[in-house]
Amino acid sequence: SSSSSSSSSKIFILNIPFSRRKKRQQVKAIAAAATTGKDQNILVIMGATGCGKSGLSVQLASHYQSEIINCDKMQVYKGLDITTNKIPLHERHDVPHHLLGDVDSIHQDFTPFHFRLRADNVVSDIASRNKLPILVGGSNSFIHAMLVNHFNPNHDVFTPKSLISSHLRYRCCFLWLDVEFPILAEYLSIRVDEMLQIGMFEELAEFYDPHTAETMPYTGIRKAIGVPEFDKYFQKNPPSKKSGIDREAFEEAVEAIKRNTHVLAERQIGKILKLKEAGWDINVLNATEAFRAVVEPGTGRNRKEIWEKEILEPSFRIVNRFLKE
Ligand code: ATP
Repeated sequence: SSSSSSSSSKIFILNIPFSRRKKRQQVKAIAAAATTGKDQNILVIMGATGCGKSGLSVQLASHYQSEIINCDKMQVYKGLDITTNKIPLHERHDVPHHLLGDVDSIHQDFTPFHFRLRADNVVSDIASRNKLPILVGGSNSFIHAMLVNHFNPNHDVFTPKSLISSHLRYRCCFLWLDVEFPILAEYLSIRVDEMLQIGMFEELAEFYDPHTAETMPYTGIRKAIGVPEFDKYFQKNPPSKKSGIDREAFEEAVEAIKRNTHVLAERQIGKILKLKEAGWDINVLNATEAFRAVVEPGTGRNRKEIWEKEILEPSFRIVNRFLKE
């Protein structure tokens, strides 16, 4: 019914002079902002850490006139860009990104409830520009908080036996980038090594504060994987002393980071499955082969080609169908 009312108003607009038409269009845009709700389309890209969500979101955003809303709970914080894996500026291809590095907080957590409030305003904003909001990130508690009709901040729906509602307050299209766990785990270990190569250790050395590390609980951005693991290293080898690398302690920190990243990915996949079982209409895209091409090079298949055929093309099909319905 919403599409028929919008097409009839389009005809009406075409019948009025251009200057007035422009004004009408502005009014229409404002109305769209004011009425975000059940008719508001949102594309949601889900998946465990490392499975290629950021890349896919930019590829789709460039095609559909979209803006991206980050829902990775560590990437909402300001700082530690390498450690938290924020998509670098040059890879964003001018697509506006929201709630990415906006929150300056070391001593307080940005909660799902905070996210719901902030993201709600961002959606209205994006809608007022007549663009499609794309929600992207691995924090399913944020996705859940943002999308359900009724949200109770005092109830963790991801505990065993707890029920998840499938009544959503937007019209959502879900894409889940799924990678079989052993392949994903192998890739995540490689990614940690790459992050170290591009400056994760130096970033954490700069961030390290001995007083905070010794006296404060882990809150805010200090919860990011890498901070607690390297705090231990820096307590033993303070960055201010500028001594050489303590190989043993370094390897220990790196192994802990890899382990904790695997645990995170496994938990995230479990949460997506829970949402799916609760009746969320999640489209699964299997990206395993694209990642196999990275972790097992020399098998002759090229990551980019596989990605285009097995992820990008089906994504376009699903989103086109969603936008036409
Ligand atoms: P949720 O479970 O709320 O959906 P999530 O899957 O992102 O969110 P949790 O299982 O709660 O995360 O685990 C969160 C922990 O994972 C954080 O405290 C942090 O240690 C780590 N983590 C999550 N995302 C990142 C990230 N981008 N960079 C570094 N560490 C991260």
